[in-house]
Amino acid sequence: MILISTTHKPATDLGYLLHKNPERTHSVDVSFGQAFVVFPEANEDRCTAALLLEVDSVALVRGKRGDRGSLSQYVNDRGYCASSYATVALRSAFATALNGRCKERPDLAQQAIPLEIRIPVLPCAWGPSKVRSLFEPLGYEVDVIQKELDPEFPDWGMSPYLDLTLRGQVVLQHALRHLYILLPALDSKKHYYMGSEEVQKLVAKGEGWLDTHPERGWIMRTYLGGNRTLVQEALEQLANVEESLLVEAQEAESEVAPDDAKPAAEPKLSLHQVRHGRVIEWVRKLKPKSLLDLGCGDGKLLREVVKVPGVDRIVGMDVSYFSLERAQRRLRLEDAGARYKDRVQLIHGSLMYRDRRLEGFDVCTIVEVIEHMDLPRLAAFERVVFEYARPKTVILTTPNRTYNAVYEFDGMRHDDHRFEWSTEEFEAWCQSVGDRFGYQFEIEGVGPAHESYGSPSNLAVFTA
Ligand code: SAH
Repeated sequence: MILISTTHKPATDLGYLLHKNPERTHSVDVSFGQAFVVFPEANEDRCTAALLLEVDSVALVRGKRGDRGSLSQYVNDRGYCASSYATVALRSAFATALNGRCKERPDLAQQAIPLEIRIPVLPCAWGPSKVRSLFEPLGYEVDVIQKELDPEFPDWGMSPYLDLTLRGQVVLQHALRHLYILLPALDSKKHYYMGSEEVQKLVAKGEGWLDTHPERGWIMRTYLGGNRTLVQEALEQLANVEESLLVEAQEAESEVAPDDAKPAAEPKLSLHQVRHGRVIEWVRKLKPKSLLDLGCGDGKLLREVVKVPGVDRIVGMDVSYFSLERAQRRLRLEDAGARYKDRVQLIHGSLMYRDRRLEGFDVCTIVEVIEHMDLPRLAAFERVVFEYARPKTVILTTPNRTYNAVYEFDGMRHDDHRFEWSTEEFEAWCQSVGDRFGYQFEIEGVGPAHESYGSPSNLAVFTA
């Protein structure tokens, strides 16, 4: 549970800032359960929003390997403390506020207001002094209570959970960003895979405060699960941001004409962006009239495809209705004109079944999808795509398992991955598909290659 209160007047403006009507109960779907936002108090003088989390322990376990069969995977602290799951809930429930947007009270969203944030059960193996050293430099007054594990058994020592209250005059967006980074940093049992995407989040949400924080090194290390390669990546990117800020400041000071000024460093792309970029290069080269994106997810690739001229018919398909709703928003399909709606369509379907809507396309993209399918089901998928839908060209990507060594990580990159192949295994599969269905293919690595482990992802282009 996380409680956010204000005494700014009228305090009920907190509802506008969080985009949640204080009179209602709000429920937000998250992959591991459900989050709720309720307002236990909402009057002129004081208003409190409570973010509650209901973790579905069965959903958590699904698709996980590791300690399968052990009771701790069902019975654990995850739903009861402000863990990395609570951070995901925070992001989902307060996404607009986290981005600093507020249509109804735009000025207030930029203004420091009296805030009180209470986290009654904060996991922290490092004790109260660590929590102080993290929040005090950010201008909060920190009140932290650590109780004995059980007063009846003093020998058991102190509880690893703290009851934390932060008070300060803070911009709400800044406070949410602080929590977004510091809660997972304090949680030593983070549930997600550590990759470049986490670096992006750290750099984006840490902008403006992390860089000068006296505990910067500690925050980065623990947020990134102690992965040295990622910490290095984050430091480089923060340096890029710093450099561009420096250039801006120098420009302003000396009033140099922008043309003469040194250009700001290019922002680094995430692996997923690099992968999509490479797929789009292929699409531009192939010049298709029609394109089908299978397992389109939330539409990130389609967002790039719509920018390619000459592709008159674009269809995205996914088995997840939730993802399709997000794709619809990302592609701004709801308020689009008839022509755009004609050009871009989203369909709900499964790659396990023959589907006539998938037939007759020039190019079909399948980006980071096959590894989400159970291996024995791949045979059905192969027929659906290569025998029945039969696009002229298929562009398909999947992770290169061998590269995981670079991440100093064993296991798979994502909770939902059913398998990950080495380049040799991928090549053998491509060969077998090519032989059986009459497609030529070529393979390339995507992302910066390691000299022994290859690239993070592999991409194959099949041509009928
Ligand atoms: N291609 C997207 C999303 C990759 S995540 C991107 O590049 O961003 C994998 C996606 O495959 C998820 O959205 C998942 O819902 C979808 N998926 C998994 N199994 C599927 C199936 N059997 N049929 C259709 N889509 C499937």
